Amino acid sequence: MYEIRFHGRGGQGAVMAAQTIAEAAILEGKQAQAFPFFGAERRGAPVMAFARIDDKRICDRTQVSEPDMLVVMDESLLEIEPVASGLKEGGCAVINSRLEPSEVDLGTVTRCVSVDATSIALEMLRAPIVNTSILGAMARANDFVSLGSIQQAIMNRFGEKLGEKAGRLNAEAAKAAFERSREGLCKGERKVQKKNAWLPTWQETPPGVALPRTSKAGMAVGPGSMTQNLTGSWGVSFPVYDEERCIKCQRCWFICPEGCIRRSPNDDLEFDLRYCKGCGLCAKVCPKDAISMRRKEASA
Ligand code: SF4
Ligand code: SF4
Repeated sequence: MYEIRFHGRGGQGAVMAAQTIAEAAILEGKQAQAFPFFGAERRGAPVMAFARIDDKRICDRTQVSEPDMLVVMDESLLEIEPVASGLKEGGCAVINSRLEPSEVDLGTVTRCVSVDATSIALEMLRAPIVNTSILGAMARANDFVSLGSIQQAIMNRFGEKLGEKAGRLNAEAAKAAFERSREGLCKGERKVQKKNAWLPTWQETPPGVALPRTSKAGMAVGPGSMTQNLTGSWGVSFPVYDEERCIKCQRCWFICPEGCIRRSPNDDLEFDLRYCKGCGLCAKVCPKDAISMRRKEASA
């Protein structure tokens, strides 16, 4: 699996870049996903987006904490965010900068592609929206997706939204960035803080991190009110857990929107079906098919 983490600022198009690289991968017959980190949605605020690409089904739905590729769309983020945190050994960084790779200090010595994406965007698109230029530099950094597929995905996505001419211009900006990118090794002098991984390990999760077993009478709204909302009646199906297949990866626990999966003291999973709304997400993310969804019996 190839994992990418984008760091940008609101308005630079980090989310669109993640979606476009995923679409390019899909055009090549691969599996892909892309999603943003929702923080304060404000132009100029630091934002993140993530993408995963693989030849097989992707079960992981967590944020990317250990990327193979790091994309920095605004070099000023190096001063305020530990952007290189978790970058895999042998990974690479793509950075929007006028500096040569050897002058960029990411806090870790790694293969780096630098490109002056802001100048390319201003020159070709008349706006400092650097996402399509960055996509071209990404193709230069690694051939996990070809430049041709990236250009096609740009024309599909941007053309649909902004018109055919804008789609073509953005695809040309990607090609220009591909050609003007510079490759090298960056510096590792800056101190990079470690970011905590988003998903705790099985051993770190305390038993019983789910809704309490009993619900008490009380307020219908406000903190804790979800215990009284028995969402288990909402669904048409329910999960069936096969303990033999389970490898305790916790993906189901992590994804359950209703908090109804509990780690029991003997390390098995327990499903509190009073709150299960039958969304099926737990079964969808399970890499071992240890959860299957079964249709509820019709009630008289
Ligand atoms: S079906 Fe949905 S609500 Fe029910 S346990 Fe699975 S993830 Fe949770
Ligand atoms: S049921 Fe599946 S997703 Fe849940 S812990 Fe077991 S293997 Fe992981």
